[in-house]
Amino acid sequence: MITRDSKLAVTSRTFSRSKELKDLLRKEFNNIKYNEDGIHFDDQNLITFLDDCEAAIVSGEKLSKEVIKKLPHLKIVSKFGVGLDGIDVDFLKEKGIKLSWKSGVNANSVAELTLCYLILMLREAQQLNRDLNAGHWSKVNNSRDLSEVTIGIIGFGQIGKTLATYLEYHKSRILAYDPFIKDDMKLESKVEFHELDSLLRQSDAVTLHVPLSDSTVEMIGDREIKLMKKNSVLLNLSRGGIVSEQAVYKALKTEHIAGAAFDVFEDEPNINPKLVQLKNFFGTPHIAGTSKNSIHKLGLAAINGLVESIDM
Ligand code: NAD
Repeated sequence: MITRDSKLAVTSRTFSRSKELKDLLRKEFNNIKYNEDGIHFDDQNLITFLDDCEAAIVSGEKLSKEVIKKLPHLKIVSKFGVGLDGIDVDFLKEKGIKLSWKSGVNANSVAELTLCYLILMLREAQQLNRDLNAGHWSKVNNSRDLSEVTIGIIGFGQIGKTLATYLEYHKSRILAYDPFIKDDMKLESKVEFHELDSLLRQSDAVTLHVPLSDSTVEMIGDREIKLMKKNSVLLNLSRGGIVSEQAVYKALKTEHIAGAAFDVFEDEPNINPKLVQLKNFFGTPHIAGTSKNSIHKLGLAAINGLVESIDM
């Protein structure tokens, strides 16, 4: 399908910065170009970058129908990362372009960072840190251990389940909402499954681990946030756009909820400065799945996806 001499482009900035992954890829392919300049691609410069390539390793870039149509040489796309939102999977199939992708590769990294942000927000460390930086020696107001709270997990897949095992150890009460989980699996689990509204009403912290899709776009908006407890916190380490940033901004400003921590944003890398500057907001630039270990595993998965398609 492709050969070792096929033109290959790596759009992923993280992959393009990793000497280890580049050395591994060089052993397999002879004609590689990297995103050395750290470009955040729009449609036009993505088309220009991938122009004459037969193979691509992509990360969060938007491979829409319009972009794919302009890439007549493309034969295979290998994903560095999990989550296929942004890629028109059906159109790739229609055009006979192979898509290689491995699920759950960085689930541990995301679950671990979620645990960290839960503790950070529930212990009010984020707000107190901002006070300290401003020269104020403040006291806690409503600082809670994991063992005294109810955590609501939306999306009970690889990351949601891993997080639940961490929380079981910390003795939290765990609720989950995932309409696609089979009943026999629910019975085996110590987690309590609820409808979305019931989970929102009961949880001290709500954390999202769903893919971005038609059914999850803005699944948390004004109505859902109003159902949340007054002192609760909201975490999004899944995808921007699943939570309405405008609704969260309003809820934090009016202190309807106590805090929010996001690793993902509606329009990355263009963040809303009004939101991130709020004292009760904590944000990171989409780093949850990219620990050193996960970068290595994601890179290997992306390389293997291409190697499997080499014509021997
Ligand atoms: P997964 O496919 O294993 O789990 C997703 C779960 O969401 C599934 O159980 C599915 O049934 C459920 N789901 C789908 N639609 C739903 C809906 N409308 N309501 C409730 N539940 C629904 O995926 P995963 O590996 O757990 O990853 C989840 C998401 O996390 C990914 O799709 C990706 O967008 C995101 N992610 C983010 C980072 C990061 O760096 N921040 C890293 C990895 C993954």
